[in-house]
Amino acid sequence: MSQRISRRVAAVPPSGIRKFFDIAATMPDVISLGIGEPDFVTPDVIRQAGIASLERGETRYTSNSGILELRQAIAAKWAQLYGVAYDPESETLVTVGGSEALYLALTAILNPGAEVIIPQPCFVSYEAEVLFAGGVALAIATEAATTFQVTGAQLAAAITPQTTAILINYPNNPTGAVLDRQRIREIAAVAEKHDLLVISDEIYDRLVYDGADHESFSSLPGMRERTIVIGGFSKDYAMTGWRLGFALGPADILDAMRKVHQYTIMSASTTAQVAAITALTDPRAEEAVLAMRRSYDARRKLLVEGLNSIGLPTFEPRGAFYAFPDVRPSGMTSDRFAWTLLEEEQVACIPGPAFGLGGEGYVRMCYATAQDKIVEALERMQRFVRRHG
Ligand code: PLP
Repeated sequence: MSQRISRRVAAVPPSGIRKFFDIAATMPDVISLGIGEPDFVTPDVIRQAGIASLERGETRYTSNSGILELRQAIAAKWAQLYGVAYDPESETLVTVGGSEALYLALTAILNPGAEVIIPQPCFVSYEAEVLFAGGVALAIATEAATTFQVTGAQLAAAITPQTTAILINYPNNPTGAVLDRQRIREIAAVAEKHDLLVISDEIYDRLVYDGADHESFSSLPGMRERTIVIGGFSKDYAMTGWRLGFALGPADILDAMRKVHQYTIMSASTTAQVAAITALTDPRAEEAVLAMRRSYDARRKLLVEGLNSIGLPTFEPRGAFYAFPDVRPSGMTSDRFAWTLLEEEQVACIPGPAFGLGGEGYVRMCYATAQDKIVEALERMQRFVRRHG
């Protein structure tokens, strides 16, 4: 049967996360720190906007690029937050999640064999999406010693004549790392020197803590013309199930992305687009974002302090909603740690290697879960670490 499937698709292994959760889902009393999505329901004011749109009978396709009012709202928000102006007509595209925007970007820019440098650990889809788009993923490992930020020197050392783009994601899934001012400038300098495109996945842009400031890659001098920003509503607005995201970038690249989008997707969900206008423009939605962020921050502190105090050294994550503890004090590999913890204490987390290079020795824990569950998970993990440490 395998010859019925294209070599390109057959070569990509299934996601390492799935099998873990399929098993966890069959176990009673599991506390899941696994799946990376907000535990909040979409804020009411946004949901009501979607409901009202359906009640008005707005059930048709929209423009391929997305409702113009939404594109204007996206561009206005980006200008307000990061000081970069994008033309809503030609430089803004509404997509089915950040996932589609990413796929479109890769499909639009990669010729067969073109290389994309991907600092890892990273979002599980990156490598597969590069391969589906006909490119070659060139993984490099980031490490705790540099707070999981890729350095300019690491990037420069990985570049070959085939390198076309760098794919970065800060705030980062799975480490929670954000980029500091020096590192982001190092990346920009390398991109400029080697004339590379940068795909900057900024889907967690609003979820930063501890006074960390998200600086959009697009805002760096000279970078707007070589950057494709991937953004979305899933994480910042707790809208994962609505499936809505966007891309911002230079008109020629956005044109190419629009072409692929037009032939494969037509347009993103109309209801979701109307709701997203409210997400971006209604002050009550902004208040909800800030309230969710405060809540994540409290849980972040609880989990990170707890992990450190039970003997699992955890680097201070300043963005997204993940902690990335070092589980080597348990004497186990990441895989063994995650499976044994699930079997013995019914706490689910994801082994670091699922996120690529640099993940061995770590697990990802998502703290977008109820505070009392985090407390209970920490108690269970303390027992576990004592037993195995
Ligand atoms: N990028 C990163 C880094 C993610 O963590 C995710 C989801 O987990 C996505 C993109 C995709 O998000 P969506 O397609 O829901 O917008």
